[in-house]
Amino acid sequence: MASMDGKTMDEIRKVLMERWRDLGGRGESGAGSEARPAAVPEIDAGAQAEIIDIAQNLEQLDRDSSLAEQERRKLVAIERALAKMATGSFGVCEECGEDIPPKRLMVLPEARYCANCQAFQERQSARIRQAAAR
Ligand SMILES: [Zn+2]
Repeated sequence: MASMDGKTMDEIRKVLMERWRDLGGRGESGAGSEARPAAVPEIDAGAQAEIIDIAQNLEQLDRDSSLAEQERRKLVAIERALAKMATGSFGVCEECGEDIPPKRLMVLPEARYCANCQAFQERQSARIRQAAAR
């Protein structure tokens, strides 16, 4: 089980919820049930700038996919993290079962793997992309 304390968890949850809303989260995958598609307000200029900011960060993560696809993926990742908080499995590496360090989760709250396993996964997907590009 995750060893992080409740306060750290609360902080990370807050960060996740903010990002989720910034990305236009509507709970389509079922994790966030408070907001409904019909209740989403029009995006103002400030929010748009934030979305562009997030989108630019995402581009560094994956230059191959479209903006919409990146935002969708990010939303799914955040919703997955929030769902894991609800079930108590948040902060545990999905690969090796070790605790993910809280410091890492503060920077990357939607992280599913510890640093070691993440590096392994990235090497694997890079290999798959290379194979697909041929
Ligand atoms: Zn791991």
